[in-house]
Amino acid sequence: MSRAVPITVAKGDGIGPEIMDATLFILQQAGARLAIEEIEIGEKVYLRGNSAGIEKESIESLLRTKVFLKAPITTPQGGGFKSLNVTTRKLLGLYANIRPCVAYDPFIPTKHPGMDVVIVRENEEDLYAGIEYFHTPDQVQCLKVITYGGCRRIVRYAFEYAVRNNRKKVTCFTKDNIMKLTDGLFHRVFDEIGAEYPQIEKEHWIVDIGAAKLADTPGAFDVIVMPNLYGDILSDVAAQIAGSVGLAGSANIGKEYAMFEAIHGSAPRRAGQNLANPSGLLLGAVMMLVHIGQPEIAELVHNAWLATIEDGIHTYDVAKEGKNPHTKQQVGTKEFAQAVVERLGRKPQQLKPVKYAAASQTLKADEPPPPAAKRELAGVDVYIHHPDTDPNQIGAMMHSVAGDGLDLIMITNRGVKVFPDPLPATLHCDTWRCRFQPKQGGAVSPRQILSLLERCVGGNIEVVKTEHLYTYDGKPGYSLGQGQ
Ligand code: NAD
Repeated sequence: MSRAVPITVAKGDGIGPEIMDATLFILQQAGARLAIEEIEIGEKVYLRGNSAGIEKESIESLLRTKVFLKAPITTPQGGGFKSLNVTTRKLLGLYANIRPCVAYDPFIPTKHPGMDVVIVRENEEDLYAGIEYFHTPDQVQCLKVITYGGCRRIVRYAFEYAVRNNRKKVTCFTKDNIMKLTDGLFHRVFDEIGAEYPQIEKEHWIVDIGAAKLADTPGAFDVIVMPNLYGDILSDVAAQIAGSVGLAGSANIGKEYAMFEAIHGSAPRRAGQNLANPSGLLLGAVMMLVHIGQPEIAELVHNAWLATIEDGIHTYDVAKEGKNPHTKQQVGTKEFAQAVVERLGRKPQQLKPVKYAAASQTLKADEPPPPAAKRELAGVDVYIHHPDTDPNQIGAMMHSVAGDGLDLIMITNRGVKVFPDPLPATLHCDTWRCRFQPKQGGAVSPRQILSLLERCVGGNIEVVKTEHLYTYDGKPGYSLGQGQ
């Protein structure tokens, strides 16, 4: 028998300690080989003045064990507290969020019997990079950061997950009809990596109609991979329509580290009453057992849990105040854990039993760097602050600083081209994007851009930001602007 695997455990806040105790009791009774280091996170740590909600020694434990089983925490009201989940994800490089969303009909009521979808969400990039600017009083901007490496890692993860878990199809959701470069890169990488998995069916949906289809006909999907924001929203939708947010567990996986948790929060109103359902955290722990190489224990626990649900032993949230006809006995947290323990070794009769093989969920191999391309500086977008609302006046002003090989090509306002040839109905804000490039095309030098900016400063034009324009093998690496 292999030796105990070190893991870090945090009992969290609210219902956290109760559901963690129940989960650890089941794991221990099932024979999980764990060497537990307990740390404190959450409300008490925040209120001691630690804005991250986690102490340095606790982080050291995470870095040591590399595996974190985390109960939900309460983030105190008021500003100044950083999200512990975001901190942990960034600190440990947990780029993949895996959320299986399964229906347990008829035992748990759902509108979608048979639903079995796994959402693979990119966890670090996109609009969640946290880079925002008020450049002017009227316009605020949030940067959507997508990298080639980030796309490769998450898309590879989704396909490897599909292979290891005997899944048949991977679907990609993006909005690349609008965000042609950022979401376009995600889609392109999906096609690129997908080609390496001929045995897996592949498809791409624009996220809006894909989301509608997911909410209406989840049976059409198997594994779905998507950038951070869509994944954040749709993984909650998927968990909810499967039956209950209270039943889903999730894994946050990086190259070296991993964190496992329930997807719900600390439900403070239910705390300390032996009411909470430990299932979400338990199913998170099942994913952890597979990850640390104890798939036989994962299988034992998961099948016993399915048998418990099937036997009608339910906590209040699943019993639905007497309205679930399949509930035979409504129990508390401890009694539910005891019922699972009593069923260890049993398989469900109607629900599909699970089978796990030994497989770490981290991917060690490095992805290649972006493909080589001839990269040339082709111009600059100069963003200026100007309260004037007449695009022709802004155009005349910016024309006056053109020269030295840089011509004013166009001006956009909120992404819409307003100069030359403004349309009267276009609304304007106080930030104007002025594109300078040689009219005949071709490369420009950084010095030309510097002189242009100097001419702006000399002309009392308030530049609030610049973006360099690059071409890659002659193709623009920048958006061309609506209305062009
Ligand atoms: P919540 O998920 O805690 O509760 C939503 C509803 O679901 C409540 O009615 C609650 O009673 C019920 N519920 C949740 N988990 C349950 C369980 N295991 N058993 C039975 N019923 C359950 O969401 P909320 O009320 O919006 O948030 C409460 C706190 O949790 C907030 O401080 C929030 O910041 C925090 N939170 C933490 C995490 C995390 O640590 N990962 C995630 C989400 C929310």
